[in-house]
Amino acid sequence: MSEYEDPSRDRLKQHFAQRVINQARQLLEVWQRLQRGEWNDSGMGELEQATQLLQRYAERFEQAEHSQLALEIGHCLQRVRENRGRLNSELISQLNLLMQRLSRTGLRHGDRFEQTLLPPLRKPVYLALQQFEQAEQLAQRLEFFGMTALPMASANAFRDAVLERHPAAILMDVDFSGPGAGLQLAEAVQEGLEHKIPLLFFSQHDTDTPTRRAAVRAGGQEFFSANLDASNLFERIEVLTHVAQYEPYRVLIIDDSRAQATHTERVLNSAGIITSTLCEPIEAMGQLAEFQPDLIILDMYMPACNGPELAKVIRHNDRYVSVPIIYLSAEDDLDKQLDAMSEGGDDFLTKPIKPRHLIATVRNRAARARSLKARMVRDSLTGLYNHTHSLQLLEDARRRAERDGQPLSFAMIDIDFFKKVNDTYGHPMGDRVIKSLALFLKQRLRKSDHIGRYGGEEFAVVMPDTDAESAKRVLDEIRQRFAEIQFSAPPHKLSCTFSSGIAQLSPDLDGKLLSQQADQALYVAKHGGRNQVAIFQG
Ligand code: GH3
Ligand code: MG
Ligand code: MG
Repeated sequence: MSEYEDPSRDRLKQHFAQRVINQARQLLEVWQRLQRGEWNDSGMGELEQATQLLQRYAERFEQAEHSQLALEIGHCLQRVRENRGRLNSELISQLNLLMQRLSRTGLRHGDRFEQTLLPPLRKPVYLALQQFEQAEQLAQRLEFFGMTALPMASANAFRDAVLERHPAAILMDVDFSGPGAGLQLAEAVQEGLEHKIPLLFFSQHDTDTPTRRAAVRAGGQEFFSANLDASNLFERIEVLTHVAQYEPYRVLIIDDSRAQATHTERVLNSAGIITSTLCEPIEAMGQLAEFQPDLIILDMYMPACNGPELAKVIRHNDRYVSVPIIYLSAEDDLDKQLDAMSEGGDDFLTKPIKPRHLIATVRNRAARARSLKARMVRDSLTGLYNHTHSLQLLEDARRRAERDGQPLSFAMIDIDFFKKVNDTYGHPMGDRVIKSLALFLKQRLRKSDHIGRYGGEEFAVVMPDTDAESAKRVLDEIRQRFAEIQFSAPPHKLSCTFSSGIAQLSPDLDGKLLSQQADQALYVAKHGGRNQVAIFQG
């Protein structure tokens, strides 16, 4: 028997290939840690070492994609070295991109099957519920969202499973294997672990405060009672296990002094923050649209147009009312500072400023602004972009597509006979269907696609770099899979379908016309019998 035909050898190889995944995770962890702190020599050394190890393992276990990524990351780090150990915006962006690709790369099984065996960083979730059947059903529903979950039959089975493999998260019934026993069990398996496993508790009953307090003490980060909804659970787990999807902050610096701006850039870059500098305040509006900063650092005194004037202009645009503006100036007259703040500034920093102080201020402000913005542009039921923001994203994508000469498709999705769902099963059930479709779309579309809730049971998807035919293929696949979902609505089972209309960007079309065309295509799909996808025919 040649070694290629030996199945046990294959299995062994798979087993060892796990090391590649573990090493990839370690590299991602170092990267994330550095982004929360400051870039220094020892961090750089750690990153290099983790990268070299990854490359070595990836080569040994024949994981071509990992090995290629490790090589590219290594080159990037080499360029940082050549830049005297300094990060700059270009290098941060590039490293971030590579790290994101790494976080999505799975193992490949030899050369014969080009098949992903294991999605990266996506371990199963363990479900330890009193009723095994309930856990099984829940696992099945989580599967629809692309999440693997394993129901646990007993306390022993659970302990063994944790020993064998740490799960991505644990859902534990407080009364699993006996009243209150779940609490202790969850605590016991976490003991001595360096990295705690995200832990969610569940109780069949409405629980009293002492139980909840005990759950918190046992390390519980979330508590569900009675109504355990799969989409809700999925969402919480996604948040708790969030891996490496951290986007570096972006800061626009407007300062007529090149030297001052360069200094600020250096400080921020060293903390993994991407910067862009403008010495001509007149260009600010264009650069804002292009660069999309999380925060603006503004000089107080510039010859052409001073800081407070510019702040006022920026604030006039609805889109930028909430972008924090920080003045950085040598002005130490408190009255003047206050005047400047009243014109739409958020903070005033006086030069010279300690790098750590600047970094901390920028990070705090930018983090708050991001979370506020997320609330402003998102729909509260589904977490998708709301109507207004969807159209804004469409407009941005249209401009980019035109500039880069790439195709762009816009799709409208509308659930079929949704009124009947509400009428037959009640409004809460209708909401569940809407939420499920939202999650389903999030799971199955690309990260670069923008998904919005356009209205009640209508959704919109902006698909950059996609022509209408490809968009149709993708949505048809999603449509078929969605129709297979069976929502439990005791004593019935309910399934739903949707229709979709797609329009592709053509020259001289603005966002509004494009969305009208998609709407017309949707109308055609509805009248063609629903549960189908139609492309706009001009
Ligand atoms: P079709 O699209 O196939 O033509 O039929 P439909 O029944 O889905 O069409 P229609 O657009 O007339 O009805 C949509 C219904 O969706 C009306 C409204 O009561 C319901 N709806 C809108 N927003 C929500 C919501 O947030 N939650 C729930 N449960 N229902 C909603
Ligand atoms: Mg409708
Ligand atoms: Mg409808």
